[in-house]
Amino acid sequence: MKLVSVSDQQFASDNYAGICPEAWSAMEMANSGHAAAYGNDYWTQRSSDCFRTLFNKEDCEVFFVFNGTAANSLALASLCQSYHSVICSDFAHIETDECGAPEFFSNGSKLLVANTRDGKLTPAAIREIANKRKDIHFPKPRVVTITQPTETGLVYTVDEIKAISEACRELNLRLHMDGARFANACASLGCEPADMTWKAGVDVLCFGGTKNGMAVGEAIIFFNRELAEDFDYRCKQAGQLASKMRFLSAPWIGMLESGTWLKNANHANSAARRLASQIEDLPNVALMFPVNANAVFLEAPEAVLSHLREKGWNFYTFIGGGARFMFSWDASLERVDVLAADIRECALVGQV
Ligand SMILES: *Cc1c(COP(=O)(O)O)cnc(C)c1O
Repeated sequence: MKLVSVSDQQFASDNYAGICPEAWSAMEMANSGHAAAYGNDYWTQRSSDCFRTLFNKEDCEVFFVFNGTAANSLALASLCQSYHSVICSDFAHIETDECGAPEFFSNGSKLLVANTRDGKLTPAAIREIANKRKDIHFPKPRVVTITQPTETGLVYTVDEIKAISEACRELNLRLHMDGARFANACASLGCEPADMTWKAGVDVLCFGGTKNGMAVGEAIIFFNRELAEDFDYRCKQAGQLASKMRFLSAPWIGMLESGTWLKNANHANSAARRLASQIEDLPNVALMFPVNANAVFLEAPEAVLSHLREKGWNFYTFIGGGARFMFSWDASLERVDVLAADIRECALVGQV
């Protein structure tokens, strides 16, 4: 089978990319001889410590699972009982793209979905949902989850997160962060990971490795370690405890110790800005959301989008109704320019 070359790169998803060299070589590094199974190994210890250093928090609990759906679902399940509910945005991955896994793994905790224009939850929306029903017939709100950056490519500022966590404290809600692209948010804000998470009131973070350049794997970080009680059993029961754990954990050493996580995210974000800057003045085409991270969403007439597909470009339109382009750690900037030129051409054709 033919491998896709740089000149064929598509930007339909940041998951189209392969494994970055740093993650790959860390896996190779861990592939020497035998090591204890199920996470009782040197590499898993060292990568957990990398997170404790990165977040400047010695007492956080770190777990590694295979993917983001499991990370979110198991983290949320650990924050609530089955009769509780979870407040999220209508764009939230847990609502739109996890096939009911959060409800399944929490034995039925209901998702309470806030209508948002752009995917961002607000303290006002949280308060409205949490205060709407207080009677015993309605599942009791217990958790708020925000996605950082959002599914629409927006980044919550540290102040916005603090305002949300204040509302959570007031309403006795816990705060979970879906950080499938957490690195892109850090790159965008240029702030310390601690400032955006536990110092701003986040209880649990799912930190995405896959979209950041790893083969597979997400880390779940409990800043409040009491919430992590028996989480290892929960992972095992869900089929998420890797026996050869070192290959799930070691790549993080390659990503975190070298700063690659941030380098990769900065590259992806700059590819998105590069596309946006070349098309924002076009007729017939509008950016649906400000470009804060590695996503660009375009609103354009169907004729323009189908023309773009005919030119060979792949993209999804099921999120927000526009065309989504998503950039990865190895996005070719020349290829981004080709896409920009093609969008320009299609937009002008669409005008006639
Ligand atoms: C990709 C993604 C996930 C994880 O998805 P998996 O396919 O289960 O790894 C979670 N949340 C968001 C916002 C995502 O974009």
